[in-house]
Amino acid sequence: MKIALIAHDKKKSEIIELAKKYKDILEMHELYATGTTGTMIMGETKLDIYRLKSGPLGGDQQIGAMLANGELDLIIFLRDPLTAQPHEPDVSALLRLCDVQKIPLATNESSATIMLEALKNKTFVIAQ
Ligand code: PGA
Repeated sequence: MKIALIAHDKKKSEIIELAKKYKDILEMHELYATGTTGTMIMGETKLDIYRLKSGPLGGDQQIGAMLANGELDLIIFLRDPLTAQPHEPDVSALLRLCDVQKIPLATNESSATIMLEALKNKTFVIAQ
């Protein structure tokens, strides 16, 4: 599967912990991330991640373009709901495209954990 990992700044530590915990599962997949998220996860886990631009500089739109092209299978995007983001329109567009394409999207640590556990247990099933 092609999996995208994104986290707003205040959620970076959470996504790093998730990546560490599920490293064995994640390394079996093709990983993509926005710039800073990808750099930080790679630094902490040595996972091999294709990094796009930083989110505020267009990375979320690049992920959106991949979604529109049917090139991603799962998105983990740990959003910070308490901080205004300068690139909020890009974030909204990305989330919208997940729904357009019916791509599974986890926006917080709990839903991400459910998805990663399902991947681990090989019970990850997507509606057709
Ligand atoms: P970043 O972007 O990984 O470059 O910080 C994430 C975002 O804010 O969309």
